[in-house]
Amino acid sequence: QQATGPVRTTPQRLVVLAGPTAVGKGTVAADVRARYPQVWLSVSATTRAPRPGEVDGVHYLFTSEADFDALVQEGQMLEWAVVHGRHRYGTPRGPVERALTAGTPVLLEIDLQGARQVKAVMPDAHFVFLAPPSWEELERRLVGRGTEGPEERERRLSTARVELAAEGEFDTTIVNDDVSRAADELVSWMGLGPLTRR
Ligand code: 5GP
Repeated sequence: QQATGPVRTTPQRLVVLAGPTAVGKGTVAADVRARYPQVWLSVSATTRAPRPGEVDGVHYLFTSEADFDALVQEGQMLEWAVVHGRHRYGTPRGPVERALTAGTPVLLEIDLQGARQVKAVMPDAHFVFLAPPSWEELERRLVGRGTEGPEERERRLSTARVELAAEGEFDTTIVNDDVSRAADELVSWMGLGPLTRR
């Protein structure tokens, strides 16, 4: 689960968004994609099956275990991790490097383990922790989403408890009390959007 080799980037060009499960990382990232098309949202590879409505190459690159192994062995993953103790997820390195070389702002929406790996090879990136307004709200969102059964939900909640404690490792915390506001605050770190950088 280790990225290989150093990678160069310009500060603030690469923003890494992480945070506990069900906090709304995907929703915030989708809002960035919809309203800030100049930001390139990295498409992760995953070994999990598509959910209804998910499109291969858009939401994820849905890969077999063997294909995922090959990507890792060929050094094509910037980072990868087993998330929630089940499936593997990873960021293909090439597209990220190409976008950064072209000067395109890049957003990675990944889990905490992945964020730590990216930090090891791209310390200049800006690391954003997306936090829930409260623990109760996080639980409510996890139940409300209804995509997981009780056992999976418990697994994710216990992961979330550990993940919440990692906030201090990040450059910035954004509270996801309102999706558009959180997205605006996120892109402000790329010099975009209505907010001025703090
Ligand atoms: P889901 O299966 O609900 O789409 O995503 C589950 C988790 O996988 C989310 O917490 C998401 O942030 C994480 N994830 C998605 N893509 C990547 C990736 O490329 N790398 C890592 N480390 N985690 C990812």
